[in-house]
Amino acid sequence: MRHDALISTLKGVGARKVEALNEAGLFSVNDLLEHFPRRYLDRSTVSYTTELQKDMQATVVGKVTGAQMRRGRKRSYFEMVVGDERGFLKCRWFNGANWIQKRFKKGDVVAVSGKVDFYGSFQMIHPDFDILNEEGTNPINTGIIVPLYPSGQKLQSAGLDSRGFRRLLRPLVEGIETKIIDFLPSELLKEYELMDLGDAIRDIHFPEDMESLKQAQHRLKFNELFLMQLFLAIRRQSVVERVKVNRFEAFGEYLESQYKKLPYELTGAQKRVMTEIWGDLKSPHPMNRLLQGDVGSGKTVISLLAAAIAAGNGYQVAIMAPTEILAEQHYKNAINFFEGTPIRVVLLTGSQTAAQKRDLRKALKEGYYHVAIGTHALIQGKVHFKNLQLVVIDEQHRFGVLQRGELLEKAAEADVLVMTATPIPRTLSMTLFGDLAISIIDELPAGRQKIITRKVDIHALPKVYGFIEDELKAGRQAFVVYPLIEESEKIDLEAATEGFEKLQHQFKGFKAALLHGRMKADEKDSIMQAFSRNEVQLLVSTTVIEVGIDIPNATVMMIENAERFGLAQLHQLRGRIGRGEHRGVCVLVHRNMNTDSLDRLAIMVETTDGFRIAEEDLRLRGAGDIFGTRQSGLPALKIANILYDGDILKQARKAAFALINEDPHLRKGPHDDLRNIVQDRFSELSSMAGIG
Ligand code: ADP
Ligand code: MG
Repeated sequence: MRHDALISTLKGVGARKVEALNEAGLFSVNDLLEHFPRRYLDRSTVSYTTELQKDMQATVVGKVTGAQMRRGRKRSYFEMVVGDERGFLKCRWFNGANWIQKRFKKGDVVAVSGKVDFYGSFQMIHPDFDILNEEGTNPINTGIIVPLYPSGQKLQSAGLDSRGFRRLLRPLVEGIETKIIDFLPSELLKEYELMDLGDAIRDIHFPEDMESLKQAQHRLKFNELFLMQLFLAIRRQSVVERVKVNRFEAFGEYLESQYKKLPYELTGAQKRVMTEIWGDLKSPHPMNRLLQGDVGSGKTVISLLAAAIAAGNGYQVAIMAPTEILAEQHYKNAINFFEGTPIRVVLLTGSQTAAQKRDLRKALKEGYYHVAIGTHALIQGKVHFKNLQLVVIDEQHRFGVLQRGELLEKAAEADVLVMTATPIPRTLSMTLFGDLAISIIDELPAGRQKIITRKVDIHALPKVYGFIEDELKAGRQAFVVYPLIEESEKIDLEAATEGFEKLQHQFKGFKAALLHGRMKADEKDSIMQAFSRNEVQLLVSTTVIEVGIDIPNATVMMIENAERFGLAQLHQLRGRIGRGEHRGVCVLVHRNMNTDSLDRLAIMVETTDGFRIAEEDLRLRGAGDIFGTRQSGLPALKIANILYDGDILKQARKAAFALINEDPHLRKGPHDDLRNIVQDRFSELSSMAGIG
C-alpha cells in the first residue's frame, strides 16, 4: 500500500471514522503514520494508587470497579472508581457527565491522569482518560509501553480514542521497516547516528523499550528540523546565486564626511557590523542580513551609514518601520544625518493626501528622492523606485520568513538589512531568520548606566510619585505606561485617561500629555515632538511607545499593571529610558499578587540582559505564542519543539546547510528522494525556483 493512499481506502475504516479523521486534518496513510502519540505509559510514568499524594500530577492505570451517576449537594455528577492491585482512586466529572458516562463500563482497563485531590479518599476531578482494554489486564505490569494519542470528542465518538488509534495503526506499522524508503542519504544517517526511518516510525508508535523510543523520537525530530532547515538553506542559496544589477565599487562620497560629523565614536561592535555590511554590499550577490542588537545599542546609525554608501553610489534607499511614529523618527534622524549633502530624504505617511502621495510617488520613480522612509506599505502597492538598491526593515521581528519574502517581492535584487531589538534566542533566529546572515551588536555605547528596575505594589505609589517629582525637578522627563490589550481596548483607554487626569493633578507644576493608539497620526506626532523637545515632561501613554522611540532625557518609566505585559514587551518599554547620560529607573507597578506574575516581574528586576529575558519569556509563554513556527510561516512542527530541541536543531541545520553547499540544487542521484520530499512539503510556500 502506498503511503499517500487515502484513509478512506483502508479496510475497516468506515465513513464516520474517515470524516472525523479528515476533520482533524488526517487524510492519507502517511498522515496517520505521522499522528504521533502524545505520550506513553509505562512503569516509570505511572503511579500506584498507594503512591498518590495530594496536589501531585499523576497517572494511574487500573480496572474500573464502579461507574455511576451520583447526586451531589448541588447537582449530579459521574463517578468512576479505578482500582489497581494496591488500592483505588475515585474520578469525578461534573461537566459533560452524560457523555463521559457512555465511555466506560465496569471491568474496563483505563489510564487516568490529573491532579490528585483528597476528600476522604484520593480523587481526581475531570482527569484525562484513556481506555486500554485490548491489553486485558494492567499492561503496565507486563512491561508494555502504551502509546496515548491526541484525540478529540469527535474522534472519540467515532471510536478513535487512543485505543482506536492503536488498532488502526498496528497493521499499518507492521513490517513498515521494509516498505519505507529512507530519504536521508546514508552517510548522513551514519554521521549523525540516526535510526532508520522505518524503524523510527515503528518505534514511535509501538516501542519495545524506552531506549528505542528515545532514538525514534530523535530521528523524527531530526527529520522535521532537517527538512525545515533544508528549505531555508535552499532559500538562502537562491539569494546567494542571484547577481545584483547595481554594484558597489566604493564607499561613495558621503560615508566618510557624515561619519566624521557623528557626535560619538562607533562602538567596536558597531564597527564590526559595518564591516560585515560593507562586505555584503560590495559582493556581487544581494545582502540578506539580520542585524540584532538590544534596545539602545545603536542600530539606527548603522542603517544610515549603509544608506550613505548606497546614496553615494547613486542608488535609492528605502527604510521601513512598523509604525508611523517610528518612521517619523527615522525621518528626522536621516534628515539630520544627511545635512550638508545633496541627498534628499522623503517621508511617506498614511496621513498625506492622495495628491501629495501621487506627487511623492512620481518623484521617487524619477529618482528625485534618494532615501524614502515609511511604514512597510512603502514598497508595496503603487510605489516604484528608479533604482532602489538598499532596503532597511526596522523592528520587524514580527515578520517571519515568508512575510518578509512577500514584502520584498519588488526588491528581489536589492540589499536587505532587517533590524531587530528583540533579542531572539539562537534556536529561534535559526528558524525565523534561518535564511539570513546574522550580525549582532553585543555592546552598548560607553557611558550608559544600567537601568535600575523595581517592582512595587500600589501601596508604594506615593513614594514612586515623590521620586518622579524629584526627577522632573532635576530637569528629566518621565513615561507612565498603561497596558493596552485589544479585547479590552476601551476599558484600557479609560484607565489610561483616568490615570492621566490623576497624574496631571499630581504633577501640577509640570506639563503632562496623553498618547494613545486611537489618536490620529499627526496628533500623536505633535505630542511625541513636544515630548522630545521637553515641552512635555510627563508622557502618559498606552503601549504605542513600545519600540524604537529615542528620548535621551527621559529617565523614569512607571509601568502600570506591569503583570499584564509580556517580558519581551517590558524589556522593549524599559529600553526607552536610560538612553542618555543619566541613570534610568523603571518602576513596575503590579496589582495582581499572583505568584506567577510576580516571578515574571522578578526576572525584569534581576536582569537587563535581553537574551535572558527573551528565553525566559519564551519558556513562560511557550514557543507557539509569539515566535512560533506559525509566525515563521513554515509548516507547524509535529514532534520537534524549537525550545527544547535546540541541540537537534543545530545538528539538523549543520547537516542541511552542508548538503546544500555540496549539492545546491539537490540534483545528485542519492538526493532524489529528498528533493521530492522538500518540493512536496514546501510546494505551497514558494516557487522553490532554487531546486530541481
Ligand atoms: P536602537 O538600537 O535601539 O535602535 P538607537 O539607534 O536609537 O538604538 O540608538 C540609541 C541612542 O544611542 C541614540 O541616541 C544614538 O544617537 C546613540 N548612539 C548610537 N551609537 C552610539 C555610540 N557609538 N556612542 C554613543 N551613542 C550612540
Ligand atoms: Mg531602533
